[in-house]
Amino acid sequence: MSQSLQLLIFGLLAAGGNLLGGWLIARAPHTSHTKLKHLLGFGAGFMLAAVMLEVIPESFHHPNTNSSLTMVWLLAGYLIIQLVEHTIAPHFHFGEEVHTEEMHRSGVAITAIAALSFHAFFDGLTIASGLLVNFRLGLLLFLAVLLHKVPEGVTVASIMMSAGKTGRSALNATALVAIFTFAGIACVVFIEQGVSWALPLSAGATLYIAATDLIPEINREGGWRSSLFIFAGVATFYLTQLLLHHLLG
Ligand SMILES: [Zn+2]
Ligand SMILES: [Zn+2]
Repeated sequence: MSQSLQLLIFGLLAAGGNLLGGWLIARAPHTSHTKLKHLLGFGAGFMLAAVMLEVIPESFHHPNTNSSLTMVWLLAGYLIIQLVEHTIAPHFHFGEEVHTEEMHRSGVAITAIAALSFHAFFDGLTIASGLLVNFRLGLLLFLAVLLHKVPEGVTVASIMMSAGKTGRSALNATALVAIFTFAGIACVVFIEQGVSWALPLSAGATLYIAATDLIPEINREGGWRSSLFIFAGVATFYLTQLLLHHLLG
């Protein structure tokens, strides 16, 4: 399978996850909250393990890497998400939106959607820069991203619904975020030479999403059961990694 076909398939499936989440909310607002939290926890554990066990080591192995800069790119990736999601956007968190009052203040929903679109761009960039290294890393990062794509679609659609918008505009907003995911993947054409910085940059962003956005969201109201899903995500990553090393070398 050619690399562009792999990119296309991964891109379509990841974007499809967003659309599925949006559709669930547009069809039936107040989808099962607990199930979504569990999926978020599982996805966060998987992502965290992917960054620590695959992406960071791989960033140092890459042939034309200046290893003194690798951690700088990682830190930059982490901070760029802090800047856009929590410094520029006034209100941002994952999961179903329940702060209806705040969402009615003008612009809050719009900036939240803009921040999520930016975030989704990095989801796409993460998958693409993994695929540039090898198929195994691309597949692992695709799975890591895919696991939070449905909850992400739910987040987007429920922000719009909480802001008093129709189901149709909720779906349109979800489609926008899906398109940005795809744009991040399409950027691979430009980063081919830059994988030595794109990989640690997207690793920093992924680390932020897992450990700073998703895990606190689970801890805020989840009990020990939700917390266990994080560990289950890590364990599943580990098993998937073993399996893929075995199958793909
Ligand atoms: Zn909120
Ligand atoms: Zn995402």
